[in-house]
Amino acid sequence: MQILLNDIIKDNKVHTKKGELADYIPELTKANPNALGICVYDLENNVYLAGDFNTKFTIQSVSKVIILTCALMDKGREIVFSKVGTEPSADPFNSIIKLETRHSHKPLNPFINAGAIVCTSLVNGNNANKKFRRVLDMIRIMADNPNIDINYHVFQSEKLTGNTNRAIAYYLKGANIIEEDVEDVLDAYFKLCSIEATVEDVAKMAAVIGNKGISPWSNEEIVPPNVCKVLMAIMMTCGLYNASGEFAVNVGFPAKSGVGGCIMSVVPNKMGIAVIGPALDDNGNSVAGLKVLESLSQKLELSMF
Ligand code: GLU
Repeated sequence: MQILLNDIIKDNKVHTKKGELADYIPELTKANPNALGICVYDLENNVYLAGDFNTKFTIQSVSKVIILTCALMDKGREIVFSKVGTEPSADPFNSIIKLETRHSHKPLNPFINAGAIVCTSLVNGNNANKKFRRVLDMIRIMADNPNIDINYHVFQSEKLTGNTNRAIAYYLKGANIIEEDVEDVLDAYFKLCSIEATVEDVAKMAAVIGNKGISPWSNEEIVPPNVCKVLMAIMMTCGLYNASGEFAVNVGFPAKSGVGGCIMSVVPNKMGIAVIGPALDDNGNSVAGLKVLESLSQKLELSMF
């Protein structure tokens, strides 16, 4: 495995040149566009690291997986899916258009911004800090790393420039989908996007999901198995923005990407995988990260189909 990963990183490094860093906030343009790293964490607790695996990044939309985890654990499936749908979207992640045109005003799914903001409102905690702590603590447990925290500069910029997210959240409050204080919900959401991690942290989180919610290192149940099933189904259908179908065809396992350049992937009952490659394609997915996962899926025959 180690040799395979070293080779895959080396062979795909060239693709980092084909993308652009996210630039909606200055902080993200400070990343190294040529970085490419991977961690595979298998269910026998073997850890494989290759390339720029020490790179720290903000998890951005990868946090949406853990926000959904907490919303489902705190409020249950019925309440969560009465306020957010389970259908893929062909629109960009921060699109607002369907909120008005859909009869129910429900966001299409938990992984577009509108859906993740609704899920943040459903996480336990009656203020921004409590909601944030609820999800941060879950991330720390799932990654087995108590030192994970936010990048404060990224949080400040997200908050300062997050006007589209603000518009989405106030619209949803007006439509009675969000019941909580909008600024509290947004504050928690911006903080969760700004959590800093490494590929090893994210691969361990993915391994828990792929192991039916049981941590492979302690054998404790961290997430209920029925929640993991929902997470993987939505990752499979909605995890790669408006390129989720293509990813299902070319790679074939559940994943969630973020504009920081990380892609979290779950190979059910086998392993958790995380890649980092901050240069993104037009859909907001790591260009080289996608290629790495495609190679790995082919070489190890990991597609679920
Ligand atoms: N902070 C970003 C936003 O909410 C996250 C985008 C992403 O990673 O998809 O706009």
